[in-house]
Amino acid sequence: MRLSQRVGRISISSTGAVFAAAAQLKAQGVDVVDLSAGEPDFPTPSHVKRAAFEAIRNDFTRYTPTDGIPELKEAIVRRHARDFQSDYATREVLVTVGGKHAIFNLTSALLQPGDEVVIPVPYWVTFKEAVHYAGAVCRFVPTSESDNFRVTAAQIEPAVSPRTRLILLNSPNNPSGAIIREEEMRKIAELARRRDLLVLTDECYCHFNYEGSTPFSLASLGKDYRDHVAVVGSVSKTYAMTGWRVGFCLGPEPLIRAMLKIQSHCTSNANSIAQKAAVAALSGPQDSIPDMLREYGRRRSFIVEKLNAIAGISCNRPDGAFYVYPNLRGLLDSRRLKNPSDLALQLLNEARVAVVPGEGFGTRDHIRISYATSMEQLEKGADRLSRFFGNG
Ligand code: PLP
Repeated sequence: MRLSQRVGRISISSTGAVFAAAAQLKAQGVDVVDLSAGEPDFPTPSHVKRAAFEAIRNDFTRYTPTDGIPELKEAIVRRHARDFQSDYATREVLVTVGGKHAIFNLTSALLQPGDEVVIPVPYWVTFKEAVHYAGAVCRFVPTSESDNFRVTAAQIEPAVSPRTRLILLNSPNNPSGAIIREEEMRKIAELARRRDLLVLTDECYCHFNYEGSTPFSLASLGKDYRDHVAVVGSVSKTYAMTGWRVGFCLGPEPLIRAMLKIQSHCTSNANSIAQKAAVAALSGPQDSIPDMLREYGRRRSFIVEKLNAIAGISCNRPDGAFYVYPNLRGLLDSRRLKNPSDLALQLLNEARVAVVPGEGFGTRDHIRISYATSMEQLEKGADRLSRFFGNG
């Protein structure tokens, strides 16, 4: 079948592909330890579920305004103001079908063929594809593994050209967990203002950092930077609500209106029941977050130690999120494997452990392991890896 050039420019999500392969094996009764999925293994908090039941009971099951119900837009603005000292108005919010949808709306609304987008490496798989789908070009910026992959303004600046329209940041980062330092964030914002660019800051993991302080949000910089910052957020990871599909974008009003235009012909509103649940998540008790973070912290320590005990693997201690991004160059060389994809395939087929190869995130020496899975699964996975690599 002849398909559009546009769709030919992108590939299916590599994280989704591993997830599907692992699910297929599991459906055949194979005991796979799945360390590929980027989603909390915790249940959605009960008060959130109750709000959804209530919405169904009250027949809150019709179309809503495309940009989201007013009480959710208010809850998003209030939560963000409380957590990050921002001061958005509800007209500067768009409720979307997950954070991913917000990114897609934004790149579609902002970019023209030939425009350039600066993206630090490693990056979340969807960034590159959303940019390519819009016909724009990615300018990748390598970060330093010895500095835990934290990008700096000095690394970004040389990649900015007269064609640059957007800088795409994600802190804490998927897959590396890197949290960009506040002083670097400020310098990047200054650069964006000077060069009249937009910075899209993906804050989907903003509540998951292990040193106790909240990562810095560019939205707290105030009015002078207003036209140069857009925030993407989501209830998916923060409240263990990946399946509910609610995210949002906060940004300059003309951009939000343009994104709304696209959304009005695509998905329309996010699910009405899920929107009510998201109101409860953002406005209700927040204690599920520190509980999850404590548990992720325990798992992080465990998996980092286990991986570093395997000869040929070196694993940084991530600043945030719930992934580790170990470097396997030593192992790839000693096993004469061409790339992490070959290794990931071996791990799935022989060790029965699902991980995501680093190519999809822009590097060739790494795999991504998610520790958003039970300690029991993590222990089993670590044992299988150690045995497979001859260290067990
Ligand atoms: N941004 C990043 C960096 C992510 O890792 C993800 C999901 O994995 C998302 C956005 C999108 O999450 P959702 O669409 O579930 O809100």
